[in-house]
Order: sequence, then structure tokens, then C-alpha cells
Amino acid sequence: MIGTLRRMVLPGRNDTAMASKKEHKRKQKNRTPDKAPERASTGENSFSLPGVEINSLNLLASAPPVPDDSRPAEEDDAARKRDEAEAAAEAERLREEAEAAERQRREAEEEAARIRAEEERQRLEAEAAAEAERRRVEAEAAERRRREAEEEAARIRAEEERQRLEAEAAAEAERRRVEAEAAERQRREAEEEAARIRAEEERQRLEAEAAAEAKRRREEAEAAERARKMAEEAERARMMAEKVEKARREAEEAERLHQEQIEAERVSMERAAAERAAKMAEEAERMRHMADAVARGRRDELVAATPAPPLEVDNPYWQKPPEIFDVLSGAPHSAAGGGRPGYVPAGDEPSLPVTMAEEPDAGNHVHAPRGCYIEDHAGGGGASADPDETVAVPLEKRMYIVMVTPEVAPCAKVGGLGDVILGLGRELMKRGHGVEVICPMYSSMRYDLIDDLREEYAELWCPHYNEWRQEKVFQGKVGGGLQVNFITGGGYTERPSIYGFDDDLQRFTYFSRQALEFMYKTNRRPDIIHCHDWATGLVAPMLWDIYEKLGWNNSRVVYTIHNNECQGLCGFGDKLLGLVGMDVKEYMRPDRMQDDTHRNCINMMKAGIVYSNFVTTVSPTYAGELKSVAGGRGLQTTITKNSAKVGGVLNGIDYETWDPTTDDKITARYGSGDDFFEKYKNKTALREWLGLWDAWKPIISVVTRLTHQKGLDLIKHAIYSAQKLQAQFVLLGSAPDPKVNDEFLRMQHELKDNHDINLYIGYHEDLSHLIYAGSDMFLVPSLYEPCGLTQIISLRYGTVPIVRETGGLVDTVFDLDNSGRGLNNANGFTFRDANAASLDYGLGRAVRLWYDNPDAFNRLARNGMRYDYSWRNPTEHYENIYNYIKA
Ligand code: ADP
Repeated sequence: MIGTLRRMVLPGRNDTAMASKKEHKRKQKNRTPDKAPERASTGENSFSLPGVEINSLNLLASAPPVPDDSRPAEEDDAARKRDEAEAAAEAERLREEAEAAERQRREAEEEAARIRAEEERQRLEAEAAAEAERRRVEAEAAERRRREAEEEAARIRAEEERQRLEAEAAAEAERRRVEAEAAERQRREAEEEAARIRAEEERQRLEAEAAAEAKRRREEAEAAERARKMAEEAERARMMAEKVEKARREAEEAERLHQEQIEAERVSMERAAAERAAKMAEEAERMRHMADAVARGRRDELVAATPAPPLEVDNPYWQKPPEIFDVLSGAPHSAAGGGRPGYVPAGDEPSLPVTMAEEPDAGNHVHAPRGCYIEDHAGGGGASADPDETVAVPLEKRMYIVMVTPEVAPCAKVGGLGDVILGLGRELMKRGHGVEVICPMYSSMRYDLIDDLREEYAELWCPHYNEWRQEKVFQGKVGGGLQVNFITGGGYTERPSIYGFDDDLQRFTYFSRQALEFMYKTNRRPDIIHCHDWATGLVAPMLWDIYEKLGWNNSRVVYTIHNNECQGLCGFGDKLLGLVGMDVKEYMRPDRMQDDTHRNCINMMKAGIVYSNFVTTVSPTYAGELKSVAGGRGLQTTITKNSAKVGGVLNGIDYETWDPTTDDKITARYGSGDDFFEKYKNKTALREWLGLWDAWKPIISVVTRLTHQKGLDLIKHAIYSAQKLQAQFVLLGSAPDPKVNDEFLRMQHELKDNHDINLYIGYHEDLSHLIYAGSDMFLVPSLYEPCGLTQIISLRYGTVPIVRETGGLVDTVFDLDNSGRGLNNANGFTFRDANAASLDYGLGRAVRLWYDNPDAFNRLARNGMRYDYSWRNPTEHYENIYNYIKA
């Protein structure tokens, strides 16, 4: 509407503008007469009319005829007046137009105002109507709500009323139901009471009947028992009479045997005395001959007559003198004759049931099968250019040695015994000897560590109680060349582990017989059969009592005690020996296999000691300890009696397996020189493996079987002592006893959040290498330790050992403060007693040195690396022992 109004107004406005322009022109025109004279006086050729501006050019273009100067003035006047009149008329007309336009504008404005007023009025009316409508709607809504609220209130009241009525009805129903139930219960109780009374009457009736029946039966049984006792009595009397008769016969027999034994001993003593006399005469003759040779300056005769050591006559199984350890470089002596003094070999050569698996090398006098000696050394001899290199023995001194063993590293290893077989075997081979190992073929072995495994002998028939069992022999190489014959053992070898079964005694008795049977059938006749621990204790008695009779009389037996904790004690000797066809009555004697303490048992380790030609233990200190009550564990009497043939040879370790300069199981390789400090990279790697803090602290570690021998309480104490001393602690331990295993697993769980301690429960070869290389100190707190390999390995890896002074630990670790060797030669720390205070003394000194004087500590570690605990020295000792006893 306003737009329309504006459109209507606009022409008016234009008109107004035009009118004002016209008005302006008009005013100009009115002023013109006043100005014209001035313009005329200036001489300009222009003049103007009201409302019209005219210049001279306009005039020229459309000029009216030039006034005629000749016209009269009255005409000009009239014309001027006419023009004025026209101008006035024109002006009047313009004014009227302007007024008309003004009027129109005012009318338009009024019209617009009116329209706006009308619109305003309509808007107000519309608003009022809308307001009225809204109020009306609101009023309606309010009315509706009020009505609804009233209805809701009415409905609630009705509902409440209904509920009240229902509740009253339910209460009434419940009351009636309870009354009905009570009535029903009373009825049932009455019925039950009646039934109970009836049942009670029935029970009493049955009881009365049963009592009558039982009484009748008891009377019958009593009568039967009386009859049985009378029969037993008669039988007992009969048996008693038989026993009396048997005892009488046995007493007669015992007396006869006793007399025979006395006679036999007398004869034996007379024979021994005669032999001694003959020997003395022989000796006198020899001495005379030697004196004569000296007198004649014949050194060759003197050497040839060098005295053979005297025979040990008290022990019928011992033939060689004890000075074995003093003759490391001397020529050994061999006694002529069979393996036992007085033995007369059977006349017939045994017929061999099989041909040899491999023909012996004719050029090799040891007659060992091929493959059990190292070809490189076969033609050698003499010193090599490198003083560290093994020297091969001259050809004529080489021997053929067979190790019979329950363990061999790395494929069938439980502890140090397996390592000894590998280390000693390889070193003997390097020196030119022929070496073979015989070991059971356990199903639990690490077959991946055996090379070239193949069937060697398919039909090894072995006695097993009253039958013969067929076994097989497989041959393979371990540790890069040591030849091992693995013998199957049916159900005896298919076990999840090597030891730990109720029939272990039978298992290894059978194996010992198998080993001999294998050698016998394949015509292996070693110079030396080297047996190990209780498991092979019966090899020597079987050799003498079974195979010697078959003509096998040129082998000698060395028996090594690695640990006498387990001796193979057997209370059912008849069954055990019966397994391999031996008669227990022959052996149940104090000078043979009878245990010195448990008189009804045979002792397999004692058999090994008594029947072998030489007995070794794994360290000199342990050899001494075996003679004591604590160390001998019941064998002290036997050891002492046989001490002439018992000696200790310290174990070595395999320097190829345990070599920090080449070990590929550790992170960084190092030696004892400038590269020693590379060792600490292994410390970092060990910490990473086990999740220990990377802190400025020493690491004390233990790698062990978790058994009583290893000092379990001291190991536990050390864990907490290490913490107190600001050291970290690592344990790698495997526990054959599940209870011990659980105990350590519990501790492991309790300490799992402690990043200064890690207990790894289990067996882990690779981790053990990193522990030896990455630790600063190595703890061996054993209660007793025949030799111990772990402290030797730790020395090799520059990890300072802290050990208890027992067994082989005494022979290998030399205390910084107490051994008298000083910082130049000491290699560790020792403590004496198996208690916490003593252990803390050792640990405390070691950790203090680490913190207070790192240079001295490293010196100690590097001293340890320079000790030679390889198999070179021990092998020389064994070689001399072998030489000494060989036939
Ligand atoms: P043992 O009385 O067990 O023969 P030794 O000290 O003579 O004790 O030899 C133990 C050998 O077994 C060492 O080579 C040692 O590294 C290894 N050994 C022991 N326990 C473990 C283990 N839990 N994990 C790996 N190697 C172990």
C-alpha cells in the first residue's frame, strides 16, 4: 500500500520539482530587467526572457527579422507591453500549474496518510481479533484441563474404592485359605501319626525276627570257626614239625659250608702266602739282576727291569698299586694275565655270534672300530708347534676306551656327569685314543643334537629274567665327533626323563648287561671300560663273572664316582641280579656287594668300587671326604679298605662349549684381555631377557639343579641378602622334586614385581650361557659338591665365584682374603659353614669389593679366566690311570 502510495506521490514530487524550477526561472525572468542594462553596458550579445535564456547565437540561428529602426517608438512600446502581458500571462499560467501541482501533491499526501491510517486501523483490528482468539482458545484449554482434572480425581477415587474392596475380598479369601490349610494339616498329621504307629509296630516285629535270625547264624558261625581253628592248629603243628626238620638240615648245611669256607680261606691264604713268597723271590732275583745291570752299566736292562708295583692281595679284585698320581710322566706297567689274580682262562676261544660291525684298523694297535678315534692324530705324535694344542700320544701308547654311562652331553644330560663324558671323551680322542660311548637310547633324548644317527646292530639279544629280549644299537656322533652307541631298552628307556622311576635299579642293571653283551657280540675288546656312577656299578662284576669265563680277559675297568648320594641300594637283590642271570648268594657278602650298613641290601656303587681296577672321584678333596662318615654316606668303610686304588681327578669343562671368545649363545664375545669389558654387553642383554632394572648394581646368579645337595635354604637366604646388599639376583634352577619346584614357583610369584630379582624355574641351556657371561658373581652354596662344574664355567666367563668350602669347590676356587694367593692369583670368594652368617660373609665381601674397588674386582674376574680348567690336565691323569691298569 505504501509502495502504491509512493508511486502515486512521485509524479507529484516531479511536478513539484518542475514547478520549483519554473518558479526559479520565473524569478530569474523577473530579475532580468534589472540586470539587462548592466549586460547591455558590458556589451554582451545576450538578453533573456522570463523563463528563457537566450544568447546571441540563438538569436543568430533563428533570429526574427531585425527590428526595423525605422519603426515608431509607440510600436515598440506596444510590442514591449504585449510581451510583458504575455510573459505575465505565462507566469500566471505557470503559477497556476504550480499551485495545481501543489494541490495534487497535498491531496496525494493526504490520500497516503489516510491509507496509512486505514492500514493501521486494520492492523490494530487484526491484532485485537488475534488476541481475542488466543484468549478464547486459552480459556477453552483451561476449561478442558479443569474438566480433565475433575475426571481424573473422580477416576482415582473410583480406583481407590475398587482396590479397597478387592483388598477386603483378598483378606477374606486368605483368612479362609489359612483356616482350610490348618484343617488339612491337622488331618494329615493325624494320618501320619497313625502310619508311624503302624511302621513302628512293623519294625519292632522285623527286629525281633532279625535278632532271632542273627542269633541262629552266630551260633552257626561260632561252630564253623571252632572247626577252622582246630584245622589250623593241626596244620601249624605239621608245619612246625617240618620247620624243625628244615632248620636241622640247614644248620648241618651251614656248618658244612662254614667248614668249607674255613678250608677255602686257609687254602687261599696258603696260596697267597706262596704267591707272596714267590714274588719276593722273584723280586730278590730282579733286584740282583738290576744291581748287576748297574754294575755293568746297562741302562737298557735297568729300565726293562723297572719294578712292577706289588700286588694288593687283601682285595682279590685289585691288582695295581696306588701311586698313580705320582707317575704322570712315568711309564705305566701292566700285569700279565687275566683281569683277576688267579683267574685261569677257559680253554676254548668263544665262538663269536656275529661278525664285527666294522673291521678294526690293522694299523691301529688299539683295535677299536673305525670312527672312535680321530684320524688326524692317528699318525701324529710328539709335541705340536702350539704349546696350547693337545699333544697326541705316541702310537704304541694309544688305547681303546669305552665309556659306559647313563648320561652323555649334550643329548642325554641331567647334570655334570654328561658333561664329563663329552669333555673327557673328546680330549682322549684328540690325544689319539679310540673312544666310544655306550648309553641307553632314551626316548626323551635331544635327538636334534645327535649327528649321523644310524642303526649299528639290529639283533642284540639280552637276557632279561628267564627270557631273551631283542634290542637294537644305534650309532651317532655328539659334540662334533664323539661316537656314541645308543642301546634300546624296550619299556626301560621309553620314559619322559632319564631318572626318577621305581624300577631305575632294574633299568640300569639291564643296561649294564646290554652294554657288555654289545661289546662281546661285536668283538669290541677295549683296553679300558670306564664306568660311571651307581647306574653302571654292576658292569665290573658282570665282566669278571660272566664274560671273563667266555675268554674276554684283556679289558680293565675304571669306575668313577660322580656323586655318592645315590648308590643303587637294593633290598631285593635276588630279583635285581636275577634279571641279568646273576646269583645273589654269590654277592651278598661284606667283601662283595653287601651294603655296609643295610645288611640285607646289595649296593651297586659298592660293587663298582670293589670289582673295578681303579676308582676315581671327581676331585681330590671329595676323594678324601668319601672316607669320612659324613662324606662316605655308608661307603666310608669300603672306600677306606680300597683306598689303595681310589684317587680324585678334578673334572674339567669342555673348553669348546664353554668359551666366551666364541660362544654364539651370548650377546657379545670377550676374552681376559682388553676385550674383557665387552662382557658388560651381556649384562645388559641378561637384564633385558629377565626384565631386571638397568641399575648400577652387581648381578649375583645361581645355575643349578634345585636339590638338597645344592643348599636350598642358603639359596633362598641369598635372594634376600642380595637385596640387602644392593645387588640383583638371578636363579636358573630345575627341581626334580615337584614339592621343591612348587616352593620355588611360589617364591617366583611373590617376587614377580621385584625388578632386582628373577627366578627362572626350569632347564634352559641358552639362558645358562648368558647368565654365566652376564653376571658379576656366581654363587655355589652346596652342602657338599663332588666337583661342581658351574663354578668352573663361571671362572671361564670371568664371573667371580662365591662358593662354600666343600669338595671340588675347594680345589677350584681360591679366596681373595684367605687363600694366601693375593690379588694376583686369587679367583673368588669362599665361606666355610653351611649357615646364613657364613654365606653372608662371602657375599658381603664380594659385593663390597664390587662397589668399593671395581678395578680389584675386575682383576679377580680376569684371574679366573686365566686358570686352566680344560680337560687337558684331567685327561693326562686318566690316561696315566688307564695305562697303569691296562692289561
Ligand atoms: P650336578 O650336581 O648337577 O652335576 P654340576 O655343577 O656338576 O652339578 O653340573 C651342572 C651342569 O648342569 C652345568 O653344566 C650347569 O650349567 C647345568 N645346569 C644345571 N642346572 C641347569 C638349568 N636349570 N638350566 C641349564 N643348565 C643347568
